[in-house]
Amino acid sequence: MNFKNNLTAFFLLLSLQFVFGQYVTDPLPYAPIANPLPDTMDQLYRDSVNLSISRVRVNQAGYRIDDEKLFYYVGSSASEFTVINIENSNIAGTGTLQSTGKQTSGQLNIKSYHKAQLISGGDIKYELLSPEISGTVFKGFLPQLAEGRYKVIVNSDTSSPFIINDNVYGMVKDALIKYFGIARCGDNESWFHDDCHLKDIVPGGWHDAGDHLKVPQSIGYAVSVLGLCATALKDRDTDHYAFNHAITQNTDRIPDVLRETKVGADYIINSYDQAAGNVSAMKTELGNMDMIMAGGDGRNIRIWL
Ligand SMILES: [Zn+2]
Repeated sequence: MNFKNNLTAFFLLLSLQFVFGQYVTDPLPYAPIANPLPDTMDQLYRDSVNLSISRVRVNQAGYRIDDEKLFYYVGSSASEFTVINIENSNIAGTGTLQSTGKQTSGQLNIKSYHKAQLISGGDIKYELLSPEISGTVFKGFLPQLAEGRYKVIVNSDTSSPFIINDNVYGMVKDALIKYFGIARCGDNESWFHDDCHLKDIVPGGWHDAGDHLKVPQSIGYAVSVLGLCATALKDRDTDHYAFNHAITQNTDRIPDVLRETKVGADYIINSYDQAAGNVSAMKTELGNMDMIMAGGDGRNIRIWL
């Protein structure tokens, strides 16, 4: 294959990537509210899109049919709004806005780094600054709308698209639980990364806030809340994923929140077993916290394999 063919193949691959969007190819259970930009798209482009801030602020998760549907507008004046059905471009409703009497102002400053982990303060790759959006905050309530996809227009400003659907919070739950898949440690079939830290004194569980530490407070709290939700809201705990969140065609037949709870619960039970049932000897905090937080008291377990 010559250079030109290689180049053609590269661009074909690139365009296919844009067509199919995500590396995850199974259907997303939250597709109607998913970020329309593919994960594979260059971050600079994705960040650039975020600089375009609408003055019309809707709930981007969407609204349930019978909910009170509040939205805001930020500007110098506003009296009326129009709701457009995106599927057919028809006007789906109109209404009026009231001033809240409050002023607001906001601006996005996005900084991208090459190696923030390795270089203190990070070495800046690019920095973007949005226009400053300021004005009076007006509020409005959307009229009764049938299931569908809509946008709101106030003056010459348009909102993000949003959906009306009774399952919006089910979709939010499906989207959020994938974060736990990213945070999974050990051989727990993360959809996002390979197995990791297999030689930890207590393997498994979840990493903390996007780093590689394992922290008992965050794991314990997450296990409690996920377990409570799985138990108290059994009818809402759906089975949309296999254990690996990239797989939705063939699931594991276990409700997703309950299954994720077990990842954290196993970590705590393994720690208990490893300490032979002596709770005060349990090792649940793993990673070298002292290096990150100057003045650490040395109790942290320096296991980092
Ligand atoms: Zn890990």
